[in-house]
Amino acid sequence: MDIQIKQGPQCHPSNCYTYRNDDILFIVIHFTGNNGDTALNNCTFFSGANRKASANYFVGNDGIYQSVPDNWAAWAVGGTKIYKHPYCRNMNSISIEMCSRIGADGKYYIRDGIVEQTIKLTRYLMNKYGVPVENVLRHYDVWDKKCPEPFVRQPELWEDFKRRLTGSEDLTMEQYNELKDLINAQAAKIADLQNINKQLVNVVQTTMVYDFNDDNMPSWARPAVQAAMDYGAVQGDENGRLGLSYKDLRAICREYRCGMYDK
Ligand SMILES: [Zn+2]
Repeated sequence: MDIQIKQGPQCHPSNCYTYRNDDILFIVIHFTGNNGDTALNNCTFFSGANRKASANYFVGNDGIYQSVPDNWAAWAVGGTKIYKHPYCRNMNSISIEMCSRIGADGKYYIRDGIVEQTIKLTRYLMNKYGVPVENVLRHYDVWDKKCPEPFVRQPELWEDFKRRLTGSEDLTMEQYNELKDLINAQAAKIADLQNINKQLVNVVQTTMVYDFNDDNMPSWARPAVQAAMDYGAVQGDENGRLGLSYKDLRAICREYRCGMYDK
């Protein structure tokens, strides 16, 4: 996975734990709640002392920047003693902040490119630390803060985000061509099979003999054959075998439609 993580000015030690005494079990997604900020802006801001908060990563138009090293715990998911989530805490989670904007409607949104980069980073960290997708949370899921606000207001955006964490990655041109060749080869096989099927149908139509007006007889022919038998136009041999070919069935149907077996 090609991912570029830039090292921003490191978070000031007064804004985070300079250690981590638990395994990384969760990844928590946030938004900055700003309008048009950049990842580097945020790193610079949090490199100053006494900001009272922090995050491991910021994702903006300018890319992915690390602020708090992974082996330090950021102050990101706390803020109250009443947690919604029973286990996720700063010490066992990595926090990613997405830079946000305010739209013409006055509501927050996250640019598609930033969401995409955040998905990439989250997948990278899931893989690196063995974090399962169900342990990727919104800040909102840890305690009741509307963060990231667009993903709380529109839960379908969050569902889409989560779906894209486990879906297949974008194909390279080489993989695309390989798949295309595979599909074309399958399509050729299907065409061959359809051809064989046509030939089989042809064989059945030219060689099949219908001896009785039963389930083996095509249903479209049965009323006409019955009428022809009732009329006496079609009779079986001494064993009652009708010995009708497919062509005979077609002819009997034609005659039946013309009223030849009407009594
Ligand atoms: Zn948050």
